[in-house]
Amino acid sequence: MSDKQIIDSNPLLREANTMVPVYGQLSFIPEKAIGCDIYTDDGRCILDLYGGHAVAALGYSHPKQVKVIKEQCSKLLFQSNAVALDIRAKAAEKLVSITPKELTRVFFVNSGAEANENALRMACMATGRKKILAITHGFHGRTAAAAAITWNADRWYGFKEKPFEVDFIARDDVSAAKAMINDDIAAVIFEPVQGVAGGYDLSTQFIQALRKLTKIHGALLIADEVQSGMGRCGKFFAVDVHEVAPDILTSAKSLGGGIPCGAVLCSEAVASFFRNGDLGTTFGGGPLAAASIVATIDIIKEENLLDNVCRAENAIRNTCVTGPITKIQGKGLLLGLICDRPAVEVRNALLEQNILTGTSSDPNIIRILAPLILKSEQIDNLARALKNIAPIKKLRKA
Ligand code: PLP
Repeated sequence: MSDKQIIDSNPLLREANTMVPVYGQLSFIPEKAIGCDIYTDDGRCILDLYGGHAVAALGYSHPKQVKVIKEQCSKLLFQSNAVALDIRAKAAEKLVSITPKELTRVFFVNSGAEANENALRMACMATGRKKILAITHGFHGRTAAAAAITWNADRWYGFKEKPFEVDFIARDDVSAAKAMINDDIAAVIFEPVQGVAGGYDLSTQFIQALRKLTKIHGALLIADEVQSGMGRCGKFFAVDVHEVAPDILTSAKSLGGGIPCGAVLCSEAVASFFRNGDLGTTFGGGPLAAASIVATIDIIKEENLLDNVCRAENAIRNTCVTGPITKIQGKGLLLGLICDRPAVEVRNALLEQNILTGTSSDPNIIRILAPLILKSEQIDNLARALKNIAPIKKLRKA
């Protein structure tokens, strides 16, 4: 093949030639994927423990999900919120049925950032206040408001000014929360398990303090469950583990099991502030996304995937503190594996053995965001592959 033919046939090079260069891409090219396995164009089968950034909750090509999506495509691919749809109503009903009982209303959107953008707007509108508190190390997305509350976003934020006042409470610092939450605060936003930060599990004591203090001061509590939600932490939403009901909860990623969608859930009290035209979106709550949300929730229940997540977490904790891994943090299948060396080295060494994991904003933590269908033999493969990685001393001497 000539050099030109190689470039013409290689998506990695073609994307590099045509797209804004903002993604550091991995070296393999997926052709298809089934269950937790990605099949590449050069004949490899890669065990995907990263799930397309926590999206592929059901794995890939789940037969029931594929059937539902195909049927919905041929029946009604799209209609806007200008008309009511049975499938959208069903998605809203199902979603409300799996969230904390205080959250009774849904506003559908298209992504995690858009969900947080709207949640923050709703909090400012409902309280008439304009200061938001977020938590250090948190990640909430890359649009203007979502990035404004993302820890350390200043280096890529881009806008000259943030859309509202923002401050950060040190994570798990109850005294800081007490000192910072006051009557000027519109909302406190937190991830129950900080995903991008490497699966850092906020303490129950801290989360319950946020709930108590926001109530005392008339501020709203927003749980960003874009990454931690939809069963990933062993309950439908991670706030359930802490027995805390927020005023607003945001969801995306796994919500549609691969079809792009997001949702803002809120209490009746919050919803009562809004009137016709206050919020809106063209694509949010479209029939394809709605059908996929319904299928995702049904499949998680029918296949007892919440139990499977808990079993998988135990097995990973019991077998994977080995090789370069010194400790495991996080919940369910949102786990941070703490490494004795730069996480990128461990990620690459696993990929050489056909296992895909993710890195995080912590340079020493790799992330597991596997599909909720993960099997015990696949966890055995991970443990074996970790054991195969040479000890750090030998590597450094070589
Ligand atoms: N919130 C959290 C906790 C996330 O992890 C992410 C994405 O990683 C987002 C929000 C942004 O979601 P999206 O990329 O769908 O806009």
